[in-house]
Amino acid sequence: MQRSSALAALTGDTRPFDIAIVGGGATGLGAAVDAASRGHRVLLVEQSDFAKATSSRSTKLVHGGVRYLRQGNISLVFEALRERGLLCQNAPHLVHDLAFVIPTYHWWEGPFYGIGLKVYDGLAGTLGLQPSRSLTRDDVLELLPTIETEHLTGGVIYHDGQFDDARLAINLAQTATEQGAVVVNYMACTGLIKSNGHVTGLKLRDAEGGAEHEVQARCVINATGVFADALRQEDDAAAAPILRPSQGVHLVLPRDFLPGDTAIMIPKTDDGRVLFAVPWHGRCIIGTTDTPVEHASLEPRALPEEIEFLLSHAARYLTRDPLPGDVLSVFAGLRPLVNAKQGSTASLSRDHHIEVADSGLITITGGKWTTYRRMAEDVIDQAELVAVLQPRPCRTEELPVHGACNAGRPNAHLRYYGGDAAHIEGLERPERIHSRLELTEAEVLWHARHEMARTVEDVLARRSRCLLLDARASSEAAPAVALLMANELGRDDAWVAEQTQAFAALASGYVL
Ligand SMILES: Cc1cc2nc3c(=O)[nH]c(=O)nc-3n(C[C@H](O)[C@H](O)[C@H](O)COP(=O)(O)OP(=O)(O)OC[C@H]3O[C@@H](n4cnc5c(N)ncnc54)[C@H](O)[C@@H]3O)c2cc1C
Repeated sequence: MQRSSALAALTGDTRPFDIAIVGGGATGLGAAVDAASRGHRVLLVEQSDFAKATSSRSTKLVHGGVRYLRQGNISLVFEALRERGLLCQNAPHLVHDLAFVIPTYHWWEGPFYGIGLKVYDGLAGTLGLQPSRSLTRDDVLELLPTIETEHLTGGVIYHDGQFDDARLAINLAQTATEQGAVVVNYMACTGLIKSNGHVTGLKLRDAEGGAEHEVQARCVINATGVFADALRQEDDAAAAPILRPSQGVHLVLPRDFLPGDTAIMIPKTDDGRVLFAVPWHGRCIIGTTDTPVEHASLEPRALPEEIEFLLSHAARYLTRDPLPGDVLSVFAGLRPLVNAKQGSTASLSRDHHIEVADSGLITITGGKWTTYRRMAEDVIDQAELVAVLQPRPCRTEELPVHGACNAGRPNAHLRYYGGDAAHIEGLERPERIHSRLELTEAEVLWHARHEMARTVEDVLARRSRCLLLDARASSEAAPAVALLMANELGRDDAWVAEQTQAFAALASGYVL
């Protein structure tokens, strides 16, 4: 997947695209894979990097959502559990089974959660993971040696999926490209082209150099997540906003706060929130919060009260209280929550929303990473109607994601690359960039050559997950990454200095 080839395809062929998608997060990339694999001519543009916004800032769970079960939202859980099963099947290099323990501190919690989780197991049907079961106090302590023991009575263990969100986004961009889509990052949609009130194309600006382009499309999909209202209002200035972004923050701690391979799930904190402590890439992620925010931003920042909430609640459930100095990284993301009561929103599912404006602009938002494939299927069914395309059956239920490979990798660090791991090893550059990070020189070369990484941030935040794993070490690694990339991309010393400085400024927002 190379940006120069995508750019040539974008500018060199003036035929209209069947479907143009704005937004390169989970929703847009899923839609591009779906549409291209049906055989449609597809363009996807992303203003920044793929998954720069919400899609790289999730809790990293591929889940049915135990809490939705508590709310009685059975159809939503059923759909998500089915998608969980399909994703395990189609992206085994990125998704794996993770055990979660709900520790219990009152006698009635064991049977209460136990029954609920049996329903959860049952809803997954043949695509289920390992079944849930009750645990004694000793079982819990064996699995979670650092859990708070005071008043602990036992627990319940259940299984869900865990994944690497940004790597899935990159692999989806590669899958879409392999299926024939034109997929370009750092290409902003600056306006809509209209004819007789109908959207017929996009105005674009290349963030690399500022060139302006116009492309024609039979249909345009707005998959811009928390930014969706901006494009809706570009289409119709009177359109009422439908999004209410809500911020979720995660803290990343050293692994010794949660040794072992089991996650902790607190279904209801004192103030009614769900809290996770999850092992991920050799660290422990604690999250999350739910704070309404007024304005969408590409780099949301954790509020002091959110950090305080997470630290104090982690202290309640762990034997050792985490302090600000223990935090390796803090990251915030914005949930694209839809206010369905406003606007003429047509709901195809209780979780995601698809709206078709009078101009033909299709907006899809809401949902979650786990259900991206189903969201894509729904929106492309809709796009075929709007664009009057020959309807074609969805193929993604059985379409492997780029890199899909079941073979265990001897080098565990590269397992997230799936089938590409062998090519990365073949580059014979195993030297690490930084002693506290596992990232190797070979990976940086691979990111620049084959994964459309354009900046140091692309490599350290999303192609690898260094920024989330250790923000300070990432900042120290930035000059070396910039030099390697400059050689690959033909950049000069000024670019190296500018990139190093820009990344240091960004990373300073991820440390406490
Ligand atoms: C804290 C938190 C935890 C979560 N945890 C989970 C979880 O564990 N499991 C799960 O399944 N889901 C989870 N989710 C939900 C999931 O992350 C989101 O539903 C999903 O990532 C949304 O993807 P999206 O593509 O709709 O939006 P985004 O990822 O935000 O993508 C929209 C893209 O559009 C681009 N864009 C905007 N305007 C333009 C323009 N004019 N031109 C070009 N591009 C543009 C943006 O740059 C952005 O990259 C979580 C969400 C949050 C916030």
